[in-house]
Amino acid sequence: MSNQREWTRRDFLALFAKGTGIAMGASLFSIPGFNKVFAATVDEIPVVWLQGGCCSGCSVSLLNTKSPSIQELLLGEVVPGKHVNLLWHPNISAGQGHQFMDIIDQVKKRPAGSYLLVIEGTMQTKDDGVFCVVGERDGKPVTLLQHVLDLAPNAMAIVAFGTCAAFGGIPAAPPNPTDSKPVTAVLDEHGIKTPVVNISGCPPHPDWFVGTLATVLIGGLGMLDLDEHRRPKAFYGSLIHDNCPRRGMFDAGLFAKDFGDKGCLYKLGCKGPVTHSDCPIRKWNGGVNWIIGSGHPCMGCVEPTFPYGMDVYQVVPVNGATPPSTYPGIVTEKPSAVSPLATGIVGAVAGLGLAAAAGAMRKKPVEDREEA
Ligand code: SF4
Ligand code: SF4
Repeated sequence: MSNQREWTRRDFLALFAKGTGIAMGASLFSIPGFNKVFAATVDEIPVVWLQGGCCSGCSVSLLNTKSPSIQELLLGEVVPGKHVNLLWHPNISAGQGHQFMDIIDQVKKRPAGSYLLVIEGTMQTKDDGVFCVVGERDGKPVTLLQHVLDLAPNAMAIVAFGTCAAFGGIPAAPPNPTDSKPVTAVLDEHGIKTPVVNISGCPPHPDWFVGTLATVLIGGLGMLDLDEHRRPKAFYGSLIHDNCPRRGMFDAGLFAKDFGDKGCLYKLGCKGPVTHSDCPIRKWNGGVNWIIGSGHPCMGCVEPTFPYGMDVYQVVPVNGATPPSTYPGIVTEKPSAVSPLATGIVGAVAGLGLAAAAGAMRKKPVEDREEA
């Protein structure tokens, strides 16, 4: 008879409260009783997390999730009755080598639609993907590309986590010697029809992942309303520019000329007018602050053009701005002749970029306007 006692749910929670459970990762599931404790009361959603061309920063961002905490996410129920069973993650799983390959082999035998695949980073495709090897079988390297081709067809869905996985990002930058591609490009090339949800960002906000996961667990993939880039509109549905606390300054022509100046950061290259996310409202690090709140322009990290489609300090056109939806317009001693509402409408309807919006105010391009 084994001397190993069977662990209880309370034991596991205590373990994770001390932080040691996370380091054990997938090996937790080999402890007697672990699976039984959770399977008895909740549905388990197996998740396999693979990394390609990336820096792991997206995973680090998710590990910093505040509500729920990462402990709650991995051990508790994301929504009542649903538990995420993270089978393997390259950064936090203790199991490596043959243990990883065994997990992959087991997942491949699962019924179609019974697991979720998360891919972080690009897919290196040149020379059959040999530039990104994850494990070996019979002494021969197995590429990430092969793993994805094996696992993707039967997954219930694939989450491309981070801008590199969603759109190519930094690893796909020219000259792109490894022929790095976004996940969707590779799936399309191989005729794989599994639904893909892009959670872009460099890195993505942890809430964007957790919220998407919770939505799927509650109502299935059909509950997700995706935009043209397969991103959930719940998080990527609005322009940063429309919810920015400095929007009133933009409308009033109050622009920062140097870092540290007060005013709208448009002239310093802010990509808020062409970037879709809820960063101004959600903020980062548990809602403490965000990039514009600390005085730096938005870099547009959630968009397919990041980072090389637009120069960092390039001034972007304003085509689709609408009146600020969260913050009131600023009150100045020299108010603009045209209301922010009119500014937004002119910009949207005319589609002539910032010059049109600014021209409605002062008949001059905004780049030439002086601060009030
Ligand atoms: S340009 Fe940038 S800083 Fe200015 S209002 Fe728009 S999002 Fe905010
Ligand atoms: S504010 Fe801009 S740069 Fe910052 S995370 Fe949001 S989209 Fe990315």
